[in-house]
Amino acid sequence: SSTPGPKVREEKILVTVRVRPLSPREQAMYDLIAWDFPDEHTVAFRHPNDERPSSSFTFDRVFGPTCSTQNVYEEGAKDVALSVLTGINATIFAYGQTSSGKTFTMRGITENAIKDIYEHMKNTPQRDFVLKISALEIYNETVVDLLSRNPGPLRLLDDPEKGTIVEKLVEKVVDDSQHLKQLIGICEAQRRVGETALNDKSSRSHQIIRLTIESHLQENSGRVKSFIATLNLVDLAGSERASLTKGDGLRLKEGGHINRSLLTLTQVIRKLSGGKRSSHIPYRESKLTRILQHSLGGNARTAIICTLSPALSHVEQSRNSLSFATSAK
Ligand code: ADP
Ligand code: MG
Repeated sequence: SSTPGPKVREEKILVTVRVRPLSPREQAMYDLIAWDFPDEHTVAFRHPNDERPSSSFTFDRVFGPTCSTQNVYEEGAKDVALSVLTGINATIFAYGQTSSGKTFTMRGITENAIKDIYEHMKNTPQRDFVLKISALEIYNETVVDLLSRNPGPLRLLDDPEKGTIVEKLVEKVVDDSQHLKQLIGICEAQRRVGETALNDKSSRSHQIIRLTIESHLQENSGRVKSFIATLNLVDLAGSERASLTKGDGLRLKEGGHINRSLLTLTQVIRKLSGGKRSSHIPYRESKLTRILQHSLGGNARTAIICTLSPALSHVEQSRNSLSFATSAK
């Protein structure tokens, strides 16, 4: 009998929207909430002067300002995150304009995912697990290690078996969940380096925390069954850096406003969701998409959490973010 080839499951991307509460600053400026949440799948624009919403958008799930991060994790990330425990690569993104809550949300998602992953490992004593972490930042198409003591720019190499690899990226074996939290703390401190020197660094940079899980199971026959999978937790640059408006061509060339990795990612996601298998997917056009290629599309699972400010003053950016999120469905 013939052995079937690898099964390629075309997974739909899980797309959710999270709208944070008005910030103290927005409140102080008498900004107003411009969005309604008619049901768990819908976010609707309603000008505060209007009685009814004028447009609405639907997603797998919409989390309003009163939803907890636990909520967001459970329904917007958990299944995707835990697929690494069965050997399936996964990527979870927070996408949204600067100050919409990406970092806040990804921290919570990461914390919850770690808790569940350790819980699963504890409850599956017959399997041998090895958990490893690496972390990197992409700023201006330069890749930097967030776990290295002297981080210089890292090169991407094409490995015939592994695909794109980041040369010399530090990968640490994690002892336990405490150790993992400590390592993530180091990444966060490292990410803040240069924050004040480089104008707007946090809105321009992408952070990827990669958890790699190896698992081995010795069967009665003595045969060992193994798998390895990677979970990418991605805090993206501000989505204002992906919106092309009239006259942006020049600024793209100067590299000032538009972020190549972010723009390419949006194109890759659009193509993946478009369902045209044959169409060319431009993974190779940015560092971010090269690094994530094997965890995006094909057999991998993907979740996008689109974060929004609720404020009327941010409606234009929020609409842009929702329009991207809609194209990812
Ligand atoms: P971003 O990473 O998108 O620039 P942050 O995650 O830094 O945005 O969030 C901006 C501010 O809003 C931070 O002070 C953060 O603590 C706060 N914030 C974000 N999301 C929420 C939320 N869901 N509930 C309460 N505060 C939030
Ligand atoms: Mg941030």
